[in-house]
Amino acid sequence: MPPDANDSQHNGGVAGQVIRKAVRVEGVVQGVGFRPFVYSLATGLGLGGLVGNDTDGVFAEVEGPSAAVGEFLRLLEAKAPPLARIERVTASSLPAEGTGSFRIVASDAGGPRRTLIAADTATCADCLRELNDPADRRFRYPFINCVNCGPRFTIVRDVPYDRPLTTMADFAMCERCSAEYHDPADRRFHAQPVCCPACGPRLALLDAIGTVLRGDPLGGTAALLRNGAVVAVKGLGGYHLAADAGCERAVAALRARKHREDKPFAVLAADLAAARRLCEVDAAGVALLTSQARPIVLLPRLPSADVAPAAAPGNRQLGVMLPYTPLHHLLVQAVARPLVLTSGNASDEPIAYRDRDALERLGGIADAFLVHDRAIHIAADDSVARACRGRPVLIRRSRGYVPEPVVVRGGFPRPVLGCGAELKNTFCLAKGTRAFVSQHIGDLENAETLRSFTDAVAHFRRLFDIDPRVVAYDTHPEYLSTKYALELDDVDLQPVQHHHAHIASCLADNGEDGPVIGVAFDGTGYGADGTIWGGEFLVADRAGFRRGGHLAPVPMPGGQAAIRQPWRMAAAYLDAAGLDAAGLDGAVPDVARRNAERWAAVLGMARRGVNSPLTSSAGRLFDAVAAILGVRDSINYEGQAAIELEQLADPGERAAYPADIEPADPFRVRGGDLVRAAAGDLAAGTPRDVIAARFHNGVAAIVAAGCALLRERHGLDVVALSGGVFQNTLLLHQTVRRLEERGFRVLTHSRVPCNDGGISLGQAVVAAARDRAGAHPGPVCS
Ligand SMILES: [Zn+2]
Ligand SMILES: [Zn+2]
Repeated sequence: MPPDANDSQHNGGVAGQVIRKAVRVEGVVQGVGFRPFVYSLATGLGLGGLVGNDTDGVFAEVEGPSAAVGEFLRLLEAKAPPLARIERVTASSLPAEGTGSFRIVASDAGGPRRTLIAADTATCADCLRELNDPADRRFRYPFINCVNCGPRFTIVRDVPYDRPLTTMADFAMCERCSAEYHDPADRRFHAQPVCCPACGPRLALLDAIGTVLRGDPLGGTAALLRNGAVVAVKGLGGYHLAADAGCERAVAALRARKHREDKPFAVLAADLAAARRLCEVDAAGVALLTSQARPIVLLPRLPSADVAPAAAPGNRQLGVMLPYTPLHHLLVQAVARPLVLTSGNASDEPIAYRDRDALERLGGIADAFLVHDRAIHIAADDSVARACRGRPVLIRRSRGYVPEPVVVRGGFPRPVLGCGAELKNTFCLAKGTRAFVSQHIGDLENAETLRSFTDAVAHFRRLFDIDPRVVAYDTHPEYLSTKYALELDDVDLQPVQHHHAHIASCLADNGEDGPVIGVAFDGTGYGADGTIWGGEFLVADRAGFRRGGHLAPVPMPGGQAAIRQPWRMAAAYLDAAGLDAAGLDGAVPDVARRNAERWAAVLGMARRGVNSPLTSSAGRLFDAVAAILGVRDSINYEGQAAIELEQLADPGERAAYPADIEPADPFRVRGGDLVRAAAGDLAAGTPRDVIAARFHNGVAAIVAAGCALLRERHGLDVVALSGGVFQNTLLLHQTVRRLEERGFRVLTHSRVPCNDGGISLGQAVVAAARDRAGAHPGPVCS
């Protein structure tokens, strides 16, 4: 509803009476063409007045006949520019001044900062047309942009969003760009990164040690790529490593030099038609691929796809993205083939985004560097998404989405920082009703990543003017994010249990408060009893939780080694299921034979509890079954065995393995029953894809059975599903189906990932709920 739509009547005015209104617009309204829009709207209606940016957003004063002012207020929201996200419009009356003209006034940088910055946005259709138009003065210019598209978050040094406070400050506009920038009728009016070949950033091609190569940088890069070279390309949020996606030699070289053994690479396709030659793309996939955020979209790979085996080994899915900068458009056009485009780092390091650092770190990986002289102020990795049940699901929320806030119902009584988890770390700064979840920081396991974390926290604090009074952190004593929180002075510290944070994140994602039955299935999280949790049924609301049930704990022989080597979990689970190495009917399972050398020792370790912490992790249960089926005895990246087990499963199989629930409180689900059934079927010669499916269906069935038991005990009929295990689409579908059949309402993630990338939002939400209650965590509800 437009504000004060009928206001002229309240003023006792008539349609022709001249009135003046002060208007304030809050939301993402800077750097998205809002002032030019207001200007042309007001002048089109014959109104006088002014418009400008300040720390709260956009302010305007409009004066004219009350009917025209009313129309102005109506169209302000109805016709707002595509990138604008209006959160609130307020209007108040002022005395008329007799102003006939309309003008744009200078930004006001004083006062507290409250405005929002837009996310980086894919090249718009108008700019793309100009990019390919030989008559246009920006023909083939790799930095073309306008008020509707281009870099934003990654070039902003400070607010308000104005050119001098971006990394475009170093480029003085030429006369023609300046004329466009100052012409309210132009698409580039007050587009802060506006530039052209005469005045803007330029490309250069460097060799592996940084010497500039002569000739056309784009043509040179394309030639190198077509010849099988690996080229580092400076993009929007950091450097990528590019290679011809169809060239096994190039992709294998990239993999070897990057020390990344199996994790799939993303592929850049020129356009939708090219993407359709690689993958099955349905309507939801099209929407994600062509969205302004342009994430990497996971799609079913076509058998005919011309992609080197090394790009995504053993994977039925492929991560595909479409170009999101003019440079990427030009590059993929010039090579005329899909390109592997992967983050510019050696495995486990943060993405490189500063030029000198990139040369040092990527010099041993890339044969050449395609660079430019527009600085990246803050790094942002590509986002990763997929469509699930017709709606988008984010797996990594980063470039293109950040820093758009997640609006949280109920809000935050005091400013909060959620420090996130260890793996796939993000943090969350929240104030008012807005939660700013950071870009993907990475696995907080080394000094470099920790520094990107602390730098990004400082940057977000400045950009959004948030000085956290409450700091929420994971209860795991060894997480670097926890240690960071515990060193902060003068803040209220709020420990939040890992799986509670997952469920709170899912609640916030869906605008719900709970209480709900929260099913948090993941690999590892520090439990309230000091053991490793990860197969949890919680009764939870935003403020607290109690453990309602869990997978029966099993030993992890060798601790961390059992995560890297799923066969160890097979040993532990077979033992827990009462099957020793002699297996079923005397047949030794293959997994025991393959690992015969260490099997007995590992089994002994598990039985004696030596270096074998107990875990209720669902991830480890998937690992055990994957190893038993011979999918994988050891892994090269987190979750690999479970991902490959999902790929193996026959989605048409309907049968499910049964598992007993020991009905104590909290109840215990015997995951070992599923393992015993899988091992039995394997010994009987049942095909592995059928066994994998029956196992998935069995896990879905125990989730449904556990929830039914908690409904009896606590009277709750809403279930929230969270934790990285639910990235498994087959499991998610089967679980939702079974829960809905039993009459549950099911909440799943959409705006933030269900994996540990969503933990920081959950922590912030828990801290806010406790803050509001004015109490320390107590057991919830029920
Ligand atoms: Zn544009
Ligand atoms: Zn220019």
